[in-house]
Amino acid sequence: MTAQEFIQQLLPMSIQNIAISLYNTNLYHKRHTGIYASMREYYANCSRLSAGEIHAEQQRKLAAFLKYATENSSWYAPCKGLELEDFPILEKRNIVENLDKIATIKENQAIVNLTGGTTGSSMKVLYTHADMQERFALIDTFRATYGYTLGKKVAWFSGKNLIQTRDLTRGTFFRDDHINRIRFFSTFHICENNFDAYWRALTEFDPEYIVGITTCVYDLCRMALERNLELKGHLKAYFSTAETVLDVQKEIVEKAFGCPLVDQYASSEGAPFIFQCLHGSMHIHPLSGIFEVVDERMRPAREGEILVTSFTTHGTPLIRYRINDRLKLAPDDFVCPCGSCFPVVEHIDGRATDFVLSVDGTRIASGNISNCTKGVEGIQCFQLLQDRQDEVTVKLVCSDRFDTLQEMKFTNALRQRLGSGMKIAIVRVPEIPRERSGKFRILKNSLAV
Ligand SMILES: [Zn+2]
Repeated sequence: MTAQEFIQQLLPMSIQNIAISLYNTNLYHKRHTGIYASMREYYANCSRLSAGEIHAEQQRKLAAFLKYATENSSWYAPCKGLELEDFPILEKRNIVENLDKIATIKENQAIVNLTGGTTGSSMKVLYTHADMQERFALIDTFRATYGYTLGKKVAWFSGKNLIQTRDLTRGTFFRDDHINRIRFFSTFHICENNFDAYWRALTEFDPEYIVGITTCVYDLCRMALERNLELKGHLKAYFSTAETVLDVQKEIVEKAFGCPLVDQYASSEGAPFIFQCLHGSMHIHPLSGIFEVVDERMRPAREGEILVTSFTTHGTPLIRYRINDRLKLAPDDFVCPCGSCFPVVEHIDGRATDFVLSVDGTRIASGNISNCTKGVEGIQCFQLLQDRQDEVTVKLVCSDRFDTLQEMKFTNALRQRLGSGMKIAIVRVPEIPRERSGKFRILKNSLAV
């Protein structure tokens, strides 16, 4: 039995809360010690630099990082050039199969991070403590622009399963860290039957900030609005993590919580960051790394797949890493009213594999599919599955209000996007399971792997 299982299964809840508080305090200490404070200052100051100064600093960090990788990783040792183009593209399977060659540190010196691979297999990366501290300095500097500081009341909806069977019967779906004032909610049990318990626990806690996996939080917000409930309290911002936010999710979450949804792009394997500014634009943080946008033939483009080089991955250097996400850059002449010179991204499509392939071969992105429910009543959630190019199955969870007329509206909206040659089968189901990570996927496409 692991320490965590022991805590979860055998100790009373009050003791569990203390154990979680101490565990977190220790974790917080590791993340906020070392270079954390100096990095906070560094990133706070960089907002005052000119575009030219930022570019020079980015190039300096890039050269230092590439040099470090060639000197410390046997995978990169053969790369003699110091230009980014001299380095090979790094695929996910390279990391899965060759971590010992790529990593520059041993597992016992590292913060080990496990993340889901494309095939469902788990991928491991090793972080140095300094890199983790710098990443938290970056995130905390970003959140500080929304008034957040360490110690303010936060509700977390994370992908960790914290809850045991006996909690389910009691209707308790959270754990409290009283020292750091965090309430951790399970994202695995959000459903109609548990709604009241979740909403009560959230209202009574009255957080100033919520951090969460949006597909899960979205479900909770949708159920709240169906009951004419909106969160009343002191909430200032909702920080979305770990996935692309769809327009419909943003709208529902902002309405139910009565605060802005603030988006960011990051990944657990250590990609550089894209943060949303107070004016709603998504800005690449140029001192966190490089985003190369490329087309199907790996040539530079304004829109397409991205290769990331991340300056905070000294433990497992990510250089030109094919992370399987896509983005579109804003036009060069776009100037954000916030005044930042950091490049703006028009949209991020999330996984490059999150699309439907139409009969004529066009890729239809998930954002375009999710808005099919606009103006259609009674759909609680749906998932589109594609195993053949001329056929999709749409699993649907719906209420009584989803009648023949609503089904026709929904099918028409899908047909408009997928083309008349696509066979569409609608299947009503009682529920749609989430992925092991706790995320909900609106598209599952076996043709894209
Ligand atoms: Zn801006």
